[in-house]
Amino acid sequence: MRSLPIFVDLSKGRIVVVGATPAASSKLETLRRRGADIAWHPVTLGREEAERRFSLRYDHVFRIVEGEPAVRDLAGAAAVISAVGDETDCRIAEYARGLGIPVNVVDLPELSSFQFPAIVDRDEVVVAVGTGGASPVLARRLRERIEALLPSRLGALAEFLGHQRARLRGHGSPVASDRRFWEEIIDGPVAQQVMEGDLHAAEQLFDARKRAGAKQQIGSVALVGAGPGDPDLLTLKALRALQDADVIYYDALVSPEILSLARRDARKVLVGKRNGQSSEDQEEINRLLIAEARNGSRVVRLKGGDPFIFGRGGEELAALQAAGIAVTVVPGITAALGCAAQAELPLTFRDEATRLVVLTGHLAKKDSAIDWSGLDDPQTTVVIYMGLTSAAAVRDGLIAAGRSPATPAAVLARGTCPDSFSVAGPLRDLATLASQAGDGPALIVVGDVVARSKPWRALVENAAQIIAEAA
Ligand code: SAH
Repeated sequence: MRSLPIFVDLSKGRIVVVGATPAASSKLETLRRRGADIAWHPVTLGREEAERRFSLRYDHVFRIVEGEPAVRDLAGAAAVISAVGDETDCRIAEYARGLGIPVNVVDLPELSSFQFPAIVDRDEVVVAVGTGGASPVLARRLRERIEALLPSRLGALAEFLGHQRARLRGHGSPVASDRRFWEEIIDGPVAQQVMEGDLHAAEQLFDARKRAGAKQQIGSVALVGAGPGDPDLLTLKALRALQDADVIYYDALVSPEILSLARRDARKVLVGKRNGQSSEDQEEINRLLIAEARNGSRVVRLKGGDPFIFGRGGEELAALQAAGIAVTVVPGITAALGCAAQAELPLTFRDEATRLVVLTGHLAKKDSAIDWSGLDDPQTTVVIYMGLTSAAAVRDGLIAAGRSPATPAAVLARGTCPDSFSVAGPLRDLATLASQAGDGPALIVVGDVVARSKPWRALVENAAQIIAEAA
């Protein structure tokens, strides 16, 4: 079910609640907290019993009406919530539909024209969470998480901002509609004072900031790691950078789910091809980043994994610094770490893997472009990026260096993405394993620890089954 959260102005009409079930009570509680004008038809309780239960807890806008509501009792209501738990709900829903009034029958989405969301209540600020009626428990869980994220005095801040905005508009001040000005207020000491309850100090700071006027905007660039694919693996810093950015230059490896977390009106530009870019391309990207930052934009350069692991982040950083641009680096979870976690493959292990080497297979096809020496050590885990098309050369290089052809190896493709794939086998079979990976990015991991991984365990189980069937 597709739904759209909208906010009902509770001063414009009463809410009719029907029923005395626990579900009805919880809706009454929420509505009362939000200051709704409530008409309650407990239906299964007499007035006295209903009053005894609720009179101490409700104020004057809470009216108890005896008996089941008739059509005329619903007329003019802003919304109707029915939670009797029997066929009465059906009747109420029909009346409401006939009158064109939004109706929610608790736990019966098919009778409802709206769902009651789980809400995070910060006075003026309300966050609604809905699952289209599919799982109220999931909605509540999400609400609890958001609850923990949002400062408790957020409502006071919204009120303060609303008041100041009205003031500025009244004076015809141009900063009233300057997004950056407001962002600075929200992110800075003014908001802090409001949330600490010192409105006087907040107001003084606000006026000082306002007098300074719209400052010359200074652009900046953040080199941001987007992680291996799963949007939940973004860091909080990366998320904030995405939400602050005016323009985002992203790589082909960055998933649409991650881009959708960016500010709605940010400009998003795809740069860089799948299989690495030429130096000219890279210079062009550097030029774009510099020009955009000089223009006053907050630029995010978004890269798969971590910017400093085979991500050209170092080159971009140097170019930006040479141009005098303010630049920050936000690390990301590199493919090796994301893929290893998903494959349950510990990259180091006490007494078994004491060294981790990360290398690019891009150069493996060119003779002796990679120095394989030292990789014969059985306690070294080797992770190869961009190695899929050169798997045979990687295999030959490692074996020539002295690594046993029986060393466990794995190919981990599209790690942490919905269509991830993994396969394992001995190093000598690496080319065959690589040929099974399909499209998209993939890593090769070689080392004894691969024997602990999920794909290796699957291989062993499979072999055991074949032997059992043959016996
Ligand atoms: N900066 C990136 C790496 C970019 S190089 C990082 O830190 O992860 C591109 C290579 O990374 C791909 O060829 C592939 O080997 C690897 N890679 C990136 N994302 C991957 C993923 N989700 N699964 C497997 N390998 C991935």
